[in-house]
Amino acid sequence: AAKAERTVVAHYDPQRDTASRERLRTRQMLRRAIEQDEFEVHYQPQCALGGGAAVGVEALVRWRHPERGLLPPGAFLELVEQAHLMPALTLVVLEQGVQQCAAWRRQGRELTVSVNLSARSLLDPELPGQVDALLRRHALPAAALVLEVTEEMIVTDPVRSLATLDALRALGLGLALDDYGTGYASLRYLRDLPFDELKIDRSFVQDLGTRAADTAIVASTTELAHALGLRVVAEGVETAAALGLLAELGVDTAQGYHLCRPVPATDLSAWLEARAA
Ligand code: C2E
Ligand code: CA
Ligand code: CA
Ligand code: CA
Repeated sequence: AAKAERTVVAHYDPQRDTASRERLRTRQMLRRAIEQDEFEVHYQPQCALGGGAAVGVEALVRWRHPERGLLPPGAFLELVEQAHLMPALTLVVLEQGVQQCAAWRRQGRELTVSVNLSARSLLDPELPGQVDALLRRHALPAAALVLEVTEEMIVTDPVRSLATLDALRALGLGLALDDYGTGYASLRYLRDLPFDELKIDRSFVQDLGTRAADTAIVASTTELAHALGLRVVAEGVETAAALGLLAELGVDTAQGYHLCRPVPATDLSAWLEARAA
C-alpha cells in the first residue's frame, strides 16, 4: 500500500510534471527542426599529404536555427541524444552526405564522404540495411562511404557493436576509428575490429612541432596503423609546420583549418576548383 501511495504522490509531483513536459517540448522542437530540414551538412576536405589533392570530405552537421542562427553540433547533439532522435538525425546526415558525394562523383570528383555515427547507431540492427538502401538509391559505390566511430561508442557493448560493424563492413564501405589516442583499450580494438582508417585526434596534431612527445606519438601511431594495414588521417591540422611534419612522418591524409574549415557544399565545390587550378 505504501508503494502504491508513493506512486500516486510521484504522479502528482508538479516538479516532475514540469520536467517531463520540458522533455516533450524539446523532443517536439527537434522533430519539427528535422521535418523542416533545418539540419544541414557542412564538409571539410581531407587532403593527401605530399600530392595535396583532396581525396575525401568529412560531413559535419549544423543546425540552421530560425532565430539563433547556425549552431555547431556541440550546441544540440546532447539534446538530440536525450530525445532519442539520433537515429533520425544520422539518417538526415547520411542522406545529404551520400547524395552530395554522388553529385560530386558525377562531376568527376572521386571523393569519399565520411559520416560520424553515434553510440546508439552501433546498437541499431536496422542501420546496415538503411545504409545499403541509401547507397543504392543514390547509386553511390559503397567504397565511397566511410563511417566514423570512436572507442567510447564501442565500450558500452563491444559484442553488439562488432556485429553492426561487421554488417556495415560486409556492404563494402570503409570504417574509421575516430579521435584515436583519447580512448583506453585502443590496441585491442585495433586488433579485433574491422577498421580501414585511423584518425589521430587533434590534441596530438594541433601543436605538432612544438612538443617532442606529440611527434613521437604521431610517428609510432602511424607506423603501428600502417603495419596493421590502416590508412592514417591526421585531424586538426592548423599550421603549415604541422602539415610538413605529418608528411615527413608518413601520415596519409590531413584535415584541418590550415587546409579548409568545414563549409557548405557549394563553397567546398569552389574550394576544390580553386585547389585543382
Ligand atoms: P569530430 O568527429 O572529431 O569532428 C572534427 C571536429 O573538429 C569538427 O568540429 C571540426 O569542425 C573540428 N575541426 C576541424 N579542423 C580543425 C582544426 O584544425 N582545429 C580545430 N580546433 N578543430 C578543427 P564540429 O563540426 O564542431 O563537430 C564536433 C563533433 O560533433 C565532431 O567531432 C563529432 O563528434 C560530432 N559530430 C559532428 N557532426 C556529426 C554528425 O553528423 N553525427 C554525429 N553523431 N556526430 C557529429
Ligand atoms: Ca569525426
Ligand atoms: Ca575526430
Ligand atoms: Ca571528437
